[in-house]
Amino acid sequence: MTLSIPSIFSSFFRLLYPRACVVCRDVLVDGELFLCSTCLSGLPLNEGVDEEADEVFANDLGIVHLYWLFRYDRASDFHKLVYAIKYRSNRELGVWAGKMLGERMINVSGIDCIIPVPLHPEREKERGFNQAFMIGMGIASVLRVQVVSGVLSRVVNTPSQTGLERGQRVDNVAEAFELGDTACVRGCHVLLVDDVVTSGATIRACMMELSKIKGIRVSVACLGKSGSI
Ligand SMILES: [Zn+2]
Repeated sequence: MTLSIPSIFSSFFRLLYPRACVVCRDVLVDGELFLCSTCLSGLPLNEGVDEEADEVFANDLGIVHLYWLFRYDRASDFHKLVYAIKYRSNRELGVWAGKMLGERMINVSGIDCIIPVPLHPEREKERGFNQAFMIGMGIASVLRVQVVSGVLSRVVNTPSQTGLERGQRVDNVAEAFELGDTACVRGCHVLLVDDVVTSGATIRACMMELSKIKGIRVSVACLGKSGSI
């Protein structure tokens, strides 16, 4: 076997700085990306068992469909997958997980374009990127649709939703969003993308604005869905 200079270099680099599974921190072996094969096969994927509850939730929010990749539970180590995207700046993981979700939607979605739930500009500057945008890019690459920006913006820099009760979450985010240039999504079926859907307060606040757009239909996609909805 002959190894190219770059592959020798990357093997050497990996020896010095081994890549670790974002969930269990075990060292990854060749062929494993982000998650080790044990964690990947244990990921509590959406297998359709919540279909009825999801439909009730979607009706309540006025959306067409809720797509989600895995069951999100802060007590489970799998929540670290989202944590690694948001707080360890793992943009590639966001795109990769988005692709995984996109592949599960490919034959059913009918989506025209994607709108990531925006961060407030100050929060985005601090973090350096919007995690929902990276996830949206992954989904978009599979569904072959565009990620559109400028339709929805976040005008109130709300404190984090983490740790708030359901009612507090609704109040916290209720008037946080505003419409921008909506011409490109009139009459479209858009996919609103977020990292995690917990109480639905953020989605509800986005829908208060998006539903003002003529002829729009909205579905929602998230990586993690909390068990309480
Ligand atoms: Zn692992």
